[in-house]
Amino acid sequence: MDLCNPSEIKTLLESNGFHFSKSLGQNFLIEGRVPLKIAEGAGIDGSFGVLEIGPGIGALTKRLSERAGKVVAVELDKSLPKLLAVSLADCDNVEIISGDILKTDIETLVKEKFAGMRLAVCANLPYNITTPVLTKLMDTGLFETITVMIQREVARRIASKPGSDDYGAFTVYANYHAVPEILFDVSPGCFMPAPKVTSSVIKFTRRDAPPAEVKDEKMFFRVVRASFAQRRKTLVNGLSAAFPLSKEALIQVLEECGFDAKVRGETLGIPEFARIAEKIGEKLNAN
Ligand code: SAM
Repeated sequence: MDLCNPSEIKTLLESNGFHFSKSLGQNFLIEGRVPLKIAEGAGIDGSFGVLEIGPGIGALTKRLSERAGKVVAVELDKSLPKLLAVSLADCDNVEIISGDILKTDIETLVKEKFAGMRLAVCANLPYNITTPVLTKLMDTGLFETITVMIQREVARRIASKPGSDDYGAFTVYANYHAVPEILFDVSPGCFMPAPKVTSSVIKFTRRDAPPAEVKDEKMFFRVVRASFAQRRKTLVNGLSAAFPLSKEALIQVLEECGFDAKVRGETLGIPEFARIAEKIGEKLNAN
């Protein structure tokens, strides 16, 4: 069956009494070239085990199945696995798991399902869980690539550079773990039902090593979060709200790192945050 043909989809959904859920971010792809382009962009082949999040009725799953060694798709909506059994009847390298990706033990799943395989994620993500899902996936460090469709605005934020309005703590987090690349945009008309916003497909390629030497990751991300917690304020104000150090001590830290006391967090890159975090760590240990 053609999983991107709106009338075939409607028949399949209606005959199973399916209703779209907004809270589950259910916008299914109905433009055949889009799942094809996403699967191609993911750059997978038979050596890969691919984890998909939210297969829906399987438009992307099918394209992944044609390329990957194996596909495991985690779907939260309990009514979808029986539809997927019909729509993906020909795909014998696909396994559907009923569950919530945010509650799934990804390390165990990967060990059980993809032993000996290279690992990738590919998904048209439910937009309301984009940041927690990406954080969870990148935290594992398991996947060579993560290729996902997300809101264009969020993709732009992730791919932004220091000094731009879009740049934020999650930009730093994502760029610390991976190299993000926006592959292409997808208009609302390619989905059923059509979302209000444009989407982008973004590919994260895992870094072999972070872009700067970071001695203490916890401290590094504490500094990053504090730096963006009070946007438009100086970095010293953000840091002084998060660390038990005087403003004078923090200004000294910044000056020792070669920055002006009035510098703003939004203008700093990963190497700069790494230097500041190291100095703050030293000051805290000295106190
Ligand atoms: N992959 C399909 C496509 O491209 O047509 C559907 C994508 S739709 C944007 C998101 C899918 O994720 C839905 O099938 C939804 O039920 C599922 N979903 C939502 N929250 C989820 C969660 N926490 N864990 C797993 N799947 C989830």
